[in-house]
Amino acid sequence: MIKELQIRVTPDVAFQRERLCQFVAREEGIDVRTINALKIRRRSIDARQRTVYVNLSLELFVNEAPPAADFAPVAYGDVSGRPAVVVVGAGPGGLFAALRLIELGLRPIVLERGKDVHERRRDIARISREHHVDAESNYAFGEGGAGAYSDGKLYTRSKKRGSVEKILRVFCQHGASPDILCEAHPHIGTDRLPRIIEAMREQIRRSGGEVHFQTRVDALLDDGRRVAGAVAADGREFRGPVILATGHSARDVYRYLCGTGISVEEKGIAVGVRLEHPAQLIDSIQYHRRDGRGRWLPAAEYSYVAQCGGRGVYSFCMCPGGFVVPAASGPQQVVVNGMSPAARSSAWSNSGMVVETRPEDLDGPLAPFLREVMADAAFAAGREDWADAACPLRMMYFQEALERLAWLQGGSRQTAPAQRMADFVNRRLSYDLPRSSYSPGVVSSPLHFWLPAFVADRLREGFQTFGRRSHGFLTNEAAVIAVETRTSSPVRISRDGAMLCHVDREGLYPCGEGAGYAGGIVSAAIDGERCAEAVAASLGV
Ligand SMILES: Cc1cc2nc3c(=O)[nH]c(=O)nc-3n(C[C@H](O)[C@H](O)[C@H](O)COP(=O)(O)OP(=O)(O)OC[C@H]3O[C@@H](n4cnc5c(N)ncnc54)[C@H](O)[C@@H]3O)c2cc1C
Repeated sequence: MIKELQIRVTPDVAFQRERLCQFVAREEGIDVRTINALKIRRRSIDARQRTVYVNLSLELFVNEAPPAADFAPVAYGDVSGRPAVVVVGAGPGGLFAALRLIELGLRPIVLERGKDVHERRRDIARISREHHVDAESNYAFGEGGAGAYSDGKLYTRSKKRGSVEKILRVFCQHGASPDILCEAHPHIGTDRLPRIIEAMREQIRRSGGEVHFQTRVDALLDDGRRVAGAVAADGREFRGPVILATGHSARDVYRYLCGTGISVEEKGIAVGVRLEHPAQLIDSIQYHRRDGRGRWLPAAEYSYVAQCGGRGVYSFCMCPGGFVVPAASGPQQVVVNGMSPAARSSAWSNSGMVVETRPEDLDGPLAPFLREVMADAAFAAGREDWADAACPLRMMYFQEALERLAWLQGGSRQTAPAQRMADFVNRRLSYDLPRSSYSPGVVSSPLHFWLPAFVADRLREGFQTFGRRSHGFLTNEAAVIAVETRTSSPVRISRDGAMLCHVDREGLYPCGEGAGYAGGIVSAAIDGERCAEAVAASLGV
């Protein structure tokens, strides 16, 4: 007999198999020895009340054998000799597009500017050690994209349940723990992601696809109406329809598109800071226990959102038991982001705390130093129209300007400017800073003064609101670390709603986060699959 159950138990029962089986047997009035298997189908933590409970959806196999596998694997055939499709970028968007192309019988040629995920690790280590950012191999660029050394949270707000499950199953097929199929907030961990990405690449190659590293695409084979392929920096040409999945940090790609008249649209972004608390403090607040999370509960998550001055202020990409990382993708930038290993066991918990900004925010008077840095960024891109409301790259220049300011404030290295949280709210320079996980180091800086007022004022109000909601959250034990700017793409690459190709170029499929159609690993992967299907449909496959 197979029985489905919904139960609510304390963490010590939920996270110990034997106790869980005994509990279920008692509740169901059956002999525990008749339970052949107990599969957890959904697990979520309910910490709303003083006592924390775990909600479980279970499948109980009583006197019955469970299925051999948790899911049916996708079959990847041999696509050698099949029509080629060029995939630019090996982030989640590009990798999932490539795998889906294989499923559909097409041959992906993946072109990636960075190094393979293993080699890339060395360049990432150099950022903290030597304050050196390799412009082609960093937290944003290289195999696995921004997703490779990320937190690997696979939680998405996407409502397409079937599509989300498919993505999670593909991750499992390439080595992720099947636990991600049942957790309400699935998470892989930065220590496990690289091996999974390697397995995906090997699958692409085994099936007859190609993956080229250190192959930056600098141009498209474009006749003004149709894109027929991509041209690498070394002059090699790769022919076929192009899925452009280059992520939101490839500013050169946006400049190229604008420069060749391939339309992009300006769009708003969220910017702010990383907020870092001691993990124990967050655990105590969220689990209502002075001693923190105790033995069984994972490091606690939080999620805050408020409306301040007519804009959203919210926590973003929360990393319990994680690290703040230097996520710049070029010189003279400081950008912070967060990640956590599978165990989520560091002494800190961090999240992005960001404010929604819109292009019209740049229409008002800007601080002179911000204007100057924006003008510099635009000038470097060969554009003088940065202040013009019609310039589609204005938000990108704004992003660049904030990153440059953070770099200057940090002492012109990867050291990040930071301030104690309550000092930031009270507009006071911090005398010293709490210990931080950010390995290049933090330096005290008056963020309240140099962040644009339309960001700093709303952040301050947001922190006060969150502090009122959760006693102890607004504290000088926490640090705000600048600057968090890579939350989404500053432009959208215009595409046809049904065919997914660019509105004025056949054969070009803008894809994933960089194109403005995704925000996170899972949604980028879903968009990658959709673009692959659109290409297949256009080829009549
Ligand atoms: C530190 C960090 C932590 C994060 N944590 C999470 C998380 O926990 N959960 C989550 O959902 N999201 C997280 N994100 C965001 C997530 O990684 C991105 O949303 C996701 O990777 C976007 O996928 P993508 O494929 O669209 O683009 P990307 O992952 O950015 O991939 C783009 C790829 O294109 C390559 N490329 C760029 N230009 C060129 C070119 N000209 N030629 C060839 N190749 C090129 C790049 O090198 C890169 O590999 C995190 C990001 C960072 C940086």
